[in-house]
Amino acid sequence: LLRHAELIRVLEAVPGFPRPHPDLEQVLTPSEAAALLLEEAFRRGDLFGRSVLDLGAGTGRLAIGAARLGARSVYAVETDADAVGIGRAAARAAGVRVSWRVADVTTARRRVDTVIMNPPFGAQRRGADRPFWERAHALAGSAVYAFALADSRTFIARSAVERGAHVESNRAVPWDLVRTFAHHRHAKVRLSVDLWTFRRSSKR
Ligand code: SAH
Repeated sequence: LLRHAELIRVLEAVPGFPRPHPDLEQVLTPSEAAALLLEEAFRRGDLFGRSVLDLGAGTGRLAIGAARLGARSVYAVETDADAVGIGRAAARAAGVRVSWRVADVTTARRRVDTVIMNPPFGAQRRGADRPFWERAHALAGSAVYAFALADSRTFIARSAVERGAHVESNRAVPWDLVRTFAHHRHAKVRLSVDLWTFRRSSKR
């Protein structure tokens, strides 16, 4: 449907955060990592023709990519109105439809087939990632695709199982964090990040 190089081009065209908020852990997903998540979801039949929800969508790189890969409908929830403004323009420029809502993730109620997310890693504010995992498993009828720091493996696997999902796959993805916040001391840092896939194992 879309070659890797073309998908990368679509993702690269989505701008990042003009003034990233450290409190919200606003870190744009690197295009290669975003493509890995989207292509994995596509291969497993969780994007094309499916309803998709992006939690903490930021400027929409994952949401726009999902729409471009043929998702039936894409919903994006993001607390920062400025980021949503950028995302709306980027979706229009990409020629895809994304339904945006400026809201806290805890208010997300839309049930979908597939949840995709690059949530806060909980590195700035302890526990910031928790409502994302709670909502993701509550709203995904079929699968969840998400990134997380390798440090939080135990918590993430447990929170999935407690909510009726199981780990379908987990693999390390190359992730260079380019200097985003003033407190970052290096131009580039290699993070240990996992790409997770969860499948619902029980009916609700
Ligand atoms: N998904 C985007 C951005 C990832 S950064 C991308 O892949 O590029 C994490 C995002 O979560 C940021 O945009 C941040 O503003 C948002 N966020 C953080 N806490 C939130 C909350 N409680 N509710 C909704 N969005 C939140």
